[in-house]
Amino acid sequence: MSDHQDQTKRTDVNELGEFGLIDHLTRDFPLTQPSSLTGVGDDAAVIDNNGYLTVVSTDMLVEGIHFDLMYFPLKHLGYKSVVVNLSDIFAMNAWPRQITVSIALSNRFSVEALEEIYDGIRTACSHYGVDLVGGDTTSSPRGLILSVTAIGQGEAGKLAYRNGARVGDLICITGNLGAAYLGLQILEREKQLYLSNPGIQPELEEQQYLIGRQLKPEARMDMIELFVKNGLVPTSMIDISDGLASELFHLCKQSGVGAFLEESGVPIHPDAEMAAINFKLDPITCALSGGEDYELLFTIDPKDLDKVKYLPDIYIAGEIVKASDGVKLHTKGGNIHDLKAQGWRHF
Ligand code: ADP
Ligand code: MG
Repeated sequence: MSDHQDQTKRTDVNELGEFGLIDHLTRDFPLTQPSSLTGVGDDAAVIDNNGYLTVVSTDMLVEGIHFDLMYFPLKHLGYKSVVVNLSDIFAMNAWPRQITVSIALSNRFSVEALEEIYDGIRTACSHYGVDLVGGDTTSSPRGLILSVTAIGQGEAGKLAYRNGARVGDLICITGNLGAAYLGLQILEREKQLYLSNPGIQPELEEQQYLIGRQLKPEARMDMIELFVKNGLVPTSMIDISDGLASELFHLCKQSGVGAFLEESGVPIHPDAEMAAINFKLDPITCALSGGEDYELLFTIDPKDLDKVKYLPDIYIAGEIVKASDGVKLHTKGGNIHDLKAQGWRHF
């Protein structure tokens, strides 16, 4: 082993950040199997099974980091744990087929509580047409951890990687951004109010949409279906789990390009806009850095513009430019800034 074991050296993981850490840990793992087509670095790994492509992605949800059981119903948690994984499979322009579910739990959780989680998992399996085919169950000293792996199928030539964006391609975004983050802010605010005065009732009715985006996200299977119907293959694609800015940076870095993003093209739901203003936040900042929207960011060849122009819920928000032109945001006020990627820092 090399210098990693030098006992005198202790590097805090915060120095590297999530993505730096992943790069650091995985850089000495060259792919050796001819069937390993894509390894670390995309939404899912791609494995060649004699011409059929299998895509695999895994994600973990940790109590206290990704969810708070004070406001996260267990059934929704089960549903969301599946959705966040399927989203990565759709982001490859592939179809999820199976999942495995691993769970670590303390004795705080009853059989009935686990049944609720699995009720949510079952609902997601049936909605997205995937089979639960395995997993692992173990105990944890405290708290709940859910890890889901999704396995899907894709067609050679039709997968959409993060590295396929080319200068001149159009940047497209599905749905709307920032709502899940604002839903979380509302849930956190009501939790704090409740903790300081357990007698008061949370005011959640008016914010159903935003809260729903946090507690019951959907993966954009409908978009992948639309692509097939319209004969469209995005040149690159990534799902928006950590905020548009961070995902756009991944896409640009891996494609070796820059981007010119139009603020006016970034879709924001009116409820999100209102809530952001109430929280004294800038709506575009919530859209750029919020996270957990599980929408898709993709690029298309401009010759395919007619194929997406009239499709519902797809917004054209800019253009891919040369790497040397950087990643820029053209604001509604007419200014051009360097875009900043914040992403999540859980450590
Ligand atoms: P996503 O947000 O799409 O789930 P991540 O940012 O979590 O993707 O991960 C980026 C890439 O790094 C993925 O290809 C993932 O499989 C890989 N990865 C993340 N953590 C690890 C790890 N601990 N060891 C190996 N690969 C990892
Ligand atoms: Mg992803």
